[in-house]
Amino acid sequence: MRVLLIEDDHMIGAAVMQALRDAAYAVDWVKDGDLAIEAVYSETYDIALLDLGLPVVDGREVLRRLRAEGRKVPVIVLTARDTLNDRIDGLDLGADDYVVKPFEIGELLARMRAVLRRQGSGSSPILTNGRIELDPATREASFSGEKVVLSAREFALLQALLMQPGVILSRGDLERHLYGWGEEVESNAVEFLIHAVRKKLGATVIRNVRGVGWMADRPPC
Ligand code: CA
Repeated sequence: MRVLLIEDDHMIGAAVMQALRDAAYAVDWVKDGDLAIEAVYSETYDIALLDLGLPVVDGREVLRRLRAEGRKVPVIVLTARDTLNDRIDGLDLGADDYVVKPFEIGELLARMRAVLRRQGSGSSPILTNGRIELDPATREASFSGEKVVLSAREFALLQALLMQPGVILSRGDLERHLYGWGEEVESNAVEFLIHAVRKKLGATVIRNVRGVGWMADRPPC
């Protein structure tokens, strides 16, 4: 999952970025509204976290422009402006949810999962595929009911594939899910992760599509 973090406060930004990386999100952090708009043009994000009080272009204006141009990236507003009118305003401008500062990081992560779930396949928080189950809230995986321990990145990689069963993801697609700007990516990092996931969950969990990428099987209807 790739997250755009738009926050000019260094302490809040650094804390959120670290927490998101610990949860194996790929995070790009920008500190003004202009860079935020540029980032949305140049990358595909699963979700954006938007502070409202931003230099250059205000967060409200960022949201207005993105929605006016039909950009559908889900947005959670991070705001200290907790009056009722500000909240209504934010939602009316096209935010999907908001978190009032100061917030607990656990609440932010839960709201992100809820927004991502609404975007995705439905209301169930558990991703299933064959005998595999993934719980994004606890980051627990199981195979035929047996718990399997995956690293944060192994989990994130498998989650990316299971969220779009039957869709082939290239190495670049998977790297975009796993690594933010400035994060060092070893050339065979994706293969290593795939190898590790297969070792734990069986070779058929991730299919090779030669020369193109990898996919999870679409579950039978
Ligand atoms: Ca701010």
